[in-house]
Amino acid sequence: MAEMEILGAKISDYDMVETVCSAAALIDVGRAAVARGADDEPVAHQIVTLNAEILYKAQSNPKLLEVINQAELVTPDGSGIVMAAQKLCNRQIERVTGIDLMLELCRQSAACGWQIYLLGAKPGVAEAAAQNLHSQYGANICGWHDGYFGEDEQAWIIGEINEKKPDILFVGLGAPRQEFWISENRSRLRVPLLIGVGGCFDVISGNLKRAPLFFQRMGLEWLWRLIKEPWRIGRMLALPKFVLLVNQEQRAKKRQAAANQPQPAARLQQQNGASGKKEKKLPQ
Ligand code: UDP
Repeated sequence: MAEMEILGAKISDYDMVETVCSAAALIDVGRAAVARGADDEPVAHQIVTLNAEILYKAQSNPKLLEVINQAELVTPDGSGIVMAAQKLCNRQIERVTGIDLMLELCRQSAACGWQIYLLGAKPGVAEAAAQNLHSQYGANICGWHDGYFGEDEQAWIIGEINEKKPDILFVGLGAPRQEFWISENRSRLRVPLLIGVGGCFDVISGNLKRAPLFFQRMGLEWLWRLIKEPWRIGRMLALPKFVLLVNQEQRAKKRQAAANQPQPAARLQQQNGASGKKEKKLPQ
C-alpha cells in the first residue's frame, strides 16, 4: 500500500476493492491467530475511516493522532481528506466511507463465511440494523448490543462478544469515542477486525436517511447532515478550519520546495560534478 501522510496521519490510498481485499487479509491473519489459541498473541486489527473533522481534532489531541496511526488501515472517509490528498500529496484518491465499507464487507460476508457483531447506537437500533443487513445483504450477524453501557458492564460485553466469535466487530459509538474504545480494548477482543462506523447503524436500521446520491457525489454529505441535524453546527465548524489548515500546509510545502531548489550557480556546479565534465566558468 502506498500511504500518504496528511497533517501527521498516515492514510491509505486504496480504493474500495483494494480496501476490502486488505480487510480480508487482516481477517485471515486474525483467524489464524485465534486458531493457534495462544491467549497472549494479538488477534485484533483496527480500521479507522478518517474524516476531516476527526483529523482536525487530532491536531490538538496527540493521543487521538497516535490511535489513528496505530491502526492497521486508515481509509479516506470524506471529501475533505480527498481534497487534502490532492493539495498536499498531489494524489487523486477515492473516498472509502465507513458506511460503504461496512455494507461491502456485509455483502461479502456470506461468501467468505465471516460472522459479524454490531456494537453501538440506542437500544433496538443495532438489532434493526442486523435484521436489515441479513435480509438485504445476506450478512451473518452473530450478535449485537447497544452503545449505552457503563464501565461496570464493559467486561461482560467484551466476554459476550468473544463468546460469539465474530470475525468483524463494527463499533458505532461515534467518532472519536469508538476509535479510543477499540484501541483500549483490542488486546482483550479475540476478533480479527474492528471498525468504527459512527452513526451507520442509525442509517442501516432506517432510523436516519443517508444523504441522497447527488449530495454524496458532490462531496456535500456534510451539508445534508447539517440540514437534518442542525445541532451538528458546532462540530462542523472544524471543516472550514481544516480547509484553512490544509491551505496553510500547502503554502508551507511550496515554500519549502522552493527553498530546496538549488540556486542557478549551485545547480551548474552540481551538474558539472555529477557528469564529471570539466568545470565551466560561471559568467561574472
Ligand atoms: N452512541 C452510542 N453510545 C454513546 C454515544 C453515542 O452508541 O454513548 C451512538 C449514537 O446513538 C449514534 C452514534 O453513536 O448511533 C453516533 O453517531 P454520529 O452520527 O454522531 O457519529 P459520527 O458518524 O459523526 O461519528
